[in-house]
Amino acid sequence: MLVVGAGILGLATAYNILRINPKTSVLIVDKTGDVGQGATAKSAAGFRAELFTSPTNQMLSNTSVNFYLHAQKEEGYDLGIELVGYLILRSRDQFEEIADIANLLEKKGALKIYRKEELKNLLKMNYEFDGDEEAELLGVKNIDYGLFGIKCGYIDADKLAYYYRDKIKEMEGNFQFNTKVEKIIVEPEVKLGIPREPRAWQKVRFTGIETNKGFIKAKNLVIAAGGWTNQLLDSIGIDCISKPKKRQIFTFRPKTEEQKALLNTKGFSEEGILPFTFLPTGHYIRADKRDGTFWFSYSDEMRPFSTDDKPEEKYYYDNIYPIIVKYFPQLEGARIDNMWAGLYMINSVDHNPVVFKRSNMVVATGASGSGILKGDAIGRIAAALVYNEPYANLFEGEEISSSKLEVIGRSLEVEKFVF
Ligand SMILES: Cc1cc2nc3c(=O)[nH]c(=O)nc-3n(C[C@H](O)[C@H](O)[C@H](O)COP(=O)(O)OP(=O)(O)OC[C@H]3O[C@@H](n4cnc5c(N)ncnc54)[C@H](O)[C@@H]3O)c2cc1C
Repeated sequence: MLVVGAGILGLATAYNILRINPKTSVLIVDKTGDVGQGATAKSAAGFRAELFTSPTNQMLSNTSVNFYLHAQKEEGYDLGIELVGYLILRSRDQFEEIADIANLLEKKGALKIYRKEELKNLLKMNYEFDGDEEAELLGVKNIDYGLFGIKCGYIDADKLAYYYRDKIKEMEGNFQFNTKVEKIIVEPEVKLGIPREPRAWQKVRFTGIETNKGFIKAKNLVIAAGGWTNQLLDSIGIDCISKPKKRQIFTFRPKTEEQKALLNTKGFSEEGILPFTFLPTGHYIRADKRDGTFWFSYSDEMRPFSTDDKPEEKYYYDNIYPIIVKYFPQLEGARIDNMWAGLYMINSVDHNPVVFKRSNMVVATGASGSGILKGDAIGRIAAALVYNEPYANLFEGEEISSSKLEVIGRSLEVEKFVF
């Protein structure tokens, strides 16, 4: 079994392949020098259990988060989980669009809905912008509601990757780093020994990969190459309905007393820190507890699909700073200390992950901005497909059809909680 990609999806898949059948021989190749160096390392690594409108996403997120919590609490493996909560700030109009599902999730105990007046006692920020022409120009909306997700927070993505790496090694899975896959090898199922095989009419199999270090043969393949997956698949005519877009994170260490007070906002969770906060504009702020920094980011629509993953300092000053300062005037003058960028693999059809099998090759991709928080479940589904199992067992026994995330005949609920 050859797995291309040592990001969260390749690792979770390899781990589950070995968990189901420890006798399977598994090799994971990656072009970088270690596990989790692609989007996984660049991630904000936030997680939100159940805080989705699609029941499929609710299931994928809840079971994955439970698995990570189990690994940290029961297995005693420090994954750097901080249950700081998610605070999704909405205008009245935005709230009304999702009010039904938000009320349902509140009844289930997954979230708490705050009204503006309650929020004002907890969080020092600007809530109203009526008559502010600049705010209108920037698309800054009033804040009327806050949805506080309870089983939410962030994880240390490096530690999660190392967790899977260690488990895979324990089960004698192997890694080969600094190996770039150039091509997937396509051969006829039945070789006839004629020139120019496979001919168009022959049934094919994927028999290995061509890399910068030579050929590697394999009986079965898993492609989990993150933002580069469609490049590998396009050349063999397979559509994964997902394309990459750059996403960037900018960090800032609070300098003034007011900025430090914002970082250490109390009253939402026991962690005593600002929750992972999403503004009505789509901008988000992660207050990093261990590092004592703010992380700022924004997922813009009008960005070209591309594998360019270089951070751009001007992006912060043009597109993030003016908006966050409107909401949080105490961040005035926040100049960034650090920045990085990675790729979201976006499935614009329904914003759910994409996992399918063609011949002897399984593909796991399309995780957009939630590959960490759904990683365990995606890995279990991909592993079930490897073994041709019709159902995948998610953590704690919940079952999901292995073809649920398939491209062909796909009919999934469109996700409305896209942050
Ligand atoms: C800025 C940012 C913020 C994010 N925030 C969150 C968040 O808060 N919560 C969340 O759940 N998710 C978040 N995500 C998304 C999450 O990081 C991804 O969904 C997840 O990491 C995808 O994992 P992957 O294994 O598919 O891809 P990757 O981690 O990119 O792994 C793919 C691997 O394949 C390797 N590879 C690619 N091509 C080749 C090749 N030709 N040969 C050999 N190796 C190859 C790469 O080197 C890489 O290691 C964020 C992403 C970004 C960029």
